[in-house]
Amino acid sequence: MAQRDRCPVCESLTLKSRPERLRDSDSIGVLACEDCGHVFLDSFDHVNDQYFVNDEFLLSKKFVQGVDARLRHFEHENEERLGRVGPLVTNKRVLEFGCGAGALMEKIQPRCDSLVGIERTKSFRERLNEVGFSVLEDISEAEGPFDVVLMFHVLEHLSEPVQAIRDCVARLASGGLLYIEVPNINDALLRLYDVEAYHRFHFFKDHLHYFSRASLQETIRRAGVREVTISGHSRFGLANHLYWLKTGKPGGHMIWNFLETPSVFREYTRALAAADMSDSLVAQIRI
Ligand SMILES: [Zn+2]
Repeated sequence: MAQRDRCPVCESLTLKSRPERLRDSDSIGVLACEDCGHVFLDSFDHVNDQYFVNDEFLLSKKFVQGVDARLRHFEHENEERLGRVGPLVTNKRVLEFGCGAGALMEKIQPRCDSLVGIERTKSFRERLNEVGFSVLEDISEAEGPFDVVLMFHVLEHLSEPVQAIRDCVARLASGGLLYIEVPNINDALLRLYDVEAYHRFHFFKDHLHYFSRASLQETIRRAGVREVTISGHSRFGLANHLYWLKTGKPGGHMIWNFLETPSVFREYTRALAAADMSDSLVAQIRI
């Protein structure tokens, strides 16, 4: 297994090891770039052409096997995403890069002027095409132009994130929007609460990259984009965090949901965003 010797974002050779281990591999480690701060796995070799195609990467999520289970599991999350991007995609030509089982596509399709998905996983792509969606295997097959390109929790899976952003930007119409969401390495559970069990949970084979606000900005800059707005977004709130602190386990947002009134969630996650400790980052690029 070849260990990576340069930062996949800024190409610096000055790297240091991080102490974390992956939850699903003993042989892969975690590196940080001393120049741009980007955090990434020390090998990408396990992500070959077949890795995504055969849904192998989904096996690390044992609780969401199969399309139906997956759609149910992500229903709440996709409803929330619809609330955010619904107004942005209305009457627009839209591309979703990494559409998965199509949960978000199903929700936004009635609003879009046109909608195309990109999905490497063969079973998802074939099923979506059978039920009438237009889903391609690779972005090189998508001509565009598109008014909006969506990338929800996809960039961290790709071995060449700079090139992926270039590919998306190249297909945007004038005035178009590229909307990217990724996990944030400065997540409060890591940086503020420093939950040991969460350090073991957070790193896994499917996620090659662990972006910070700075390294996401640098990735976008390297793709030739000069103007970007990056903001914090939280998928999980106080109930989830308290449960991690108490038990060292995920799922608190469901098990202790009585703690989380909408206003508590809103105010708590707003405070985390202001401190750059949200669990996710959203980059919006207008061309
Ligand atoms: Zn770097």
